[in-house]
Amino acid sequence: MSQKLLKLIHKENISEYSDIYTFERADGSLFEFVGGQYVILNAGIDKDGKVIKRAYSILSSDSKADSFQICVKRLETGKASSILPTLELGSELEYSGPWGKFAGDPTWPSPGFSLILATDTGITSLVGLLLSKKFSNRLDSTIAVWLKTKEEDFLSENELTKTLSEVSNFPNIFHIPPISDQNRISSALEILKSILGDCTVPENVFLSGDGNILRELRSELIRLGTLESKIGMEAFFNTQRNTSPAISLG
Ligand SMILES: Cc1cc2nc3c(=O)[nH]c(=O)nc-3n(C[C@H](O)[C@H](O)[C@H](O)COP(=O)(O)OP(=O)(O)OC[C@H]3O[C@@H](n4cnc5c(N)ncnc54)[C@H](O)[C@@H]3O)c2cc1C
Repeated sequence: MSQKLLKLIHKENISEYSDIYTFERADGSLFEFVGGQYVILNAGIDKDGKVIKRAYSILSSDSKADSFQICVKRLETGKASSILPTLELGSELEYSGPWGKFAGDPTWPSPGFSLILATDTGITSLVGLLLSKKFSNRLDSTIAVWLKTKEEDFLSENELTKTLSEVSNFPNIFHIPPISDQNRISSALEILKSILGDCTVPENVFLSGDGNILRELRSELIRLGTLESKIGMEAFFNTQRNTSPAISLG
């Protein structure tokens, strides 16, 4: 099978810790995807000879298929996130995708109320869903929530406003403690409780970002009555369950 390649056609440094990259397919063909899906980029080879393949959610709208955008956080010791900012325009990268069966499922979301909740860098898939064709006539019955640390400057509110300028629905932003803080999960659960206090239990849910938080929110939503099959979840980091006990809202 021939290699699938993307060509970098634009990059923009939007904060000290993040960049938006625009890619098109190197052969000039369209890149069709569904909002909320992601691509896997091959960023190169590490010092042990291992291929650096990393997933990135597509930030731009699925109504545009000639190119697409991703936003990547620069992590101090991150392998891919250190290589990507050094790419020259015109560079070609091997990729696979689009991936994300749940977001791509034409039967999701089902009719009813939807909750799209992201923590930290998970905001990229939240944006992709809000901009998607499938949510365009569902925004009135959708609540979007972004849990971030106060200091996080991955995507500023100004940048988010610009990106979502065509959309009537803007995420409700709540501050949560830093990733290492032991009160992070309980704080996220309290926020979920406060949001759901004002509305019905969501029929459809999409969760993205910190896996440690998402697993607890998903359990809570299932306990409250959302069907497990209607909850999509993408852990961007903390992908493995840790051993700390589960917390419940009681
Ligand atoms: C479906 C999916 C979609 C994703 N979409 C995005 C996206 O849109 N934008 C984006 O920047 N990243 C996204 N990620 C994360 C991305 O795939 C990489 O894990 C990230 O860029 C770090 O890769 P790296 O090689 O630079 O770091 P690595 O060398 O792999 O190591 C970095 C360490 O930091 C942790 N880490 C990863 N992300 C974060 C974070 N946000 N905050 C704190 N620690 C973190 C990793 O778990 C790892 O322990 C996504 C992940 C998945 C699974």
